[in-house]
Amino acid sequence: MSQHILPTAMLGILGGGQLGRMFTMSALSMGYRVTVLDPDTESPAGALADVHLCAAFDDPAALQQLADTCVAVTTEFENVPAASMAFLEQHIRVSPSSDAVSIAQDRIREKRFIANAGLQVAPFIAIESLNDLEQDLAGHLPGILKIARLGYDGKGQVQVSSPEQAKAAFLDMDSKPCVLEKKLDLQTEISVIVTRSGSGHSICFPVAENQHAGGILDISIVPARVEASVAGHAREMALQLAESFDYVGVLAVEFFVLDGGELLINEIAPRPHNSGHYTLNATQVSQFDQQVRAMCGLNPGETQLLSPVVMVNLLGDIWGDDEPAWDILLSQPNVHLHLYGKKSARIGRKMGHFNVLAENADTALQQALELKERLKQP
Ligand code: ADP
Ligand code: MG
Repeated sequence: MSQHILPTAMLGILGGGQLGRMFTMSALSMGYRVTVLDPDTESPAGALADVHLCAAFDDPAALQQLADTCVAVTTEFENVPAASMAFLEQHIRVSPSSDAVSIAQDRIREKRFIANAGLQVAPFIAIESLNDLEQDLAGHLPGILKIARLGYDGKGQVQVSSPEQAKAAFLDMDSKPCVLEKKLDLQTEISVIVTRSGSGHSICFPVAENQHAGGILDISIVPARVEASVAGHAREMALQLAESFDYVGVLAVEFFVLDGGELLINEIAPRPHNSGHYTLNATQVSQFDQQVRAMCGLNPGETQLLSPVVMVNLLGDIWGDDEPAWDILLSQPNVHLHLYGKKSARIGRKMGHFNVLAENADTALQQALELKERLKQP
């Protein structure tokens, strides 16, 4: 992994959504070429890449073409078929590894891995059959039943407060493997994004404080308004986890903060993360620059915060018949708009985000909330 891959090499990415698009923009601006594999003809990343392989993620010919034409491959999402990653690994550099990705795509394996690494997770039990719900559940109720695979943005999650409700919810999810997690009283939520190179150099981005609405990330505030000791502890835990995976690439770690500053790891993502979009404007390098650097065997760039920042997600909800009134954002000299080029807006669909930079996080937050409110108006 020590050999550097340099421009104008061709880099590959599995997945062509907004994360793939922002990766592509970073790679292109550094002088690399990019091939995107995504079955969507209107893929946001495919529209910018040198080559868009419009095929399924397990299409043998498309995978062969990636292997033949790219020097290294990464991914923008965790639900890539494990066999596809394993095939590519036989031919070219793949980061993160298929092992790391397959652990992150299964909540049961993910939580066990984190706990085995000596790090704390929310109390949970694996539910693989109705039998698993016959045990004493008292310590995990009221709880949240979460589907083990393919859940995201709060989808595949049901709150349950009795064993009967848990059973009904499990059957409702077609008896697919789940975790039952105790519902916790959260003081706040934070996340840390780590970049680790093949030579073992690791660096964290500043800690983000995350607010969700309807199960979807709404706002990230940086620096997070938590004690310095809590932020420091979160960074240490994230670094330790990246080390345990012998990870190469960008790893996002979501935390629950409980009263007294106790930290539990909620979940991880083996890729750049929505809560790291602030790095496009407020740090020396972005999380997408880091993804390029890590897959190319380069050391991570500096992550120092250049300005307090608040990121606001733009969901399809604010699209009417017309585009939202973008001059509300673009007329502000300290606001940076990022749109993903998606053709159709739907409720809950991530269409873009904006970053507000200000002298402190509270001022940025206030302005961000005002702008968000004005965008909603007809
Ligand atoms: P997703 O993959 O959809 O992001 P998460 O497990 O991160 O799933 O859950 C989404 C959100 O739901 C979390 O960010 C948090 O706000 C809330 N949540 C999840 N699990 C718990 C829990 N055990 N206790 C309290 N809130 C939770
Ligand atoms: Mg989450």
